[in-house]
Amino acid sequence: MHEWALAESVIKAAVEHSAAEKLKKLKEAGVVFGELQAIDGEIFKFALEELRAQFPVAKLCKFKIIKQPAVFRCKACAHEFPLKGLKKTKDEAEFIHFVPEMAHTFLKCPKCKSPDFEIAKGRGVSISYIKGEK
Ligand SMILES: [Zn+2]
Repeated sequence: MHEWALAESVIKAAVEHSAAEKLKKLKEAGVVFGELQAIDGEIFKFALEELRAQFPVAKLCKFKIIKQPAVFRCKACAHEFPLKGLKKTKDEAEFIHFVPEMAHTFLKCPKCKSPDFEIAKGRGVSISYIKGEK
């Protein structure tokens, strides 16, 4: 259900964007979603394609899903590091994926070893671009 609610808000945002840019037809929208966002990409895409019919301007819009890799920022030394490439077991990786808050239990800043960091990238869903016809 989460995917459907997200898909609806993405389409609404895209429709608002196209109104702001005076587009009559929305052709393509780039949708960025974070690696740590616990949603099913397939269901999300399906939901987008089902729901767009409710919005005349977005009826034929193609949605391009762009996955954004997770990046953490150390609060102690401001070093930024990706989730990828850090040493962790497969189970840990899965767990982090679904419960980002738990990353603190497994990960440490590779530079200063502080466990105090925040998620800089890789959460949430946003629209990166739209293309359409005026
Ligand atoms: Zn650090």
